[in-house]
Amino acid sequence: MTESPAQAQDNLNSVEDRIAAAAREGGRKAATVTLIAVSKTFDPEAIEPVLATGHRHYGENRVQEALNKWPDLKRRFPDSVLHLIGPLQSNKVAQAVSLFDAIHSVDRDKLARALSRAIGEQGRDPLLFVQVNTGNEPQKAGVAPDAAASFVDRCRNEHGLAIQGLMCLPPFGEAAGPHFALLRQLAAQAEVPLLSMGMSADFETAIAMGATHVRVGSAIFGPR
Ligand SMILES: *Cc1c(COP(=O)(O)O)cnc(C)c1O
Repeated sequence: MTESPAQAQDNLNSVEDRIAAAAREGGRKAATVTLIAVSKTFDPEAIEPVLATGHRHYGENRVQEALNKWPDLKRRFPDSVLHLIGPLQSNKVAQAVSLFDAIHSVDRDKLARALSRAIGEQGRDPLLFVQVNTGNEPQKAGVAPDAAASFVDRCRNEHGLAIQGLMCLPPFGEAAGPHFALLRQLAAQAEVPLLSMGMSADFETAIAMGATHVRVGSAIFGPR
């Protein structure tokens, strides 16, 4: 269900206020937290009013859906910044690198190799995060926590990828705090500065634990 344009704008404002309050509470500046408005499943008509407020960071979880929606939106809002927050297949890497400004789901060597090649060929420089499966869930993407630091190392030294952060998606129905704490610890180990964690239900907790990028969908655009 799509909210009215004014509702989405109000929602954005209130999420921004809550982010600022959570940052202040943690002794941080609000500007150290990037709000990614997750627009997956929503039509361009629902996204435009949010773009019109000046908000620039958006997240999509499917390459094909983003290819259908964003080339046109990016032409009209050229300074928008598009984040891929969902899984990436090797055969979609070239398209993903041409469209996305950040990729949060690097999680295997084959993908890292393909990304490295596409980035070199296209002369692009996307912000890169390694996804960590903090709950060790069999069906979920991401590297295992105990493999995270060595994978980041291989990305840098074997694949030539400048990984800047880690991302996680805690198990559904579990308290997110311990997963955010683990991700922060792994990022310190891997020596990466950025943390992509926290969604509509728990972004304040994530900010308290050091999130630099929160991915918020339904609290802005409404239920999916
Ligand atoms: C959908 C999605 C989000 C946003 O979820 P909400 O609960 O709607 O805020 C964040 N991260 C990922 C990876 C997602 O797929």
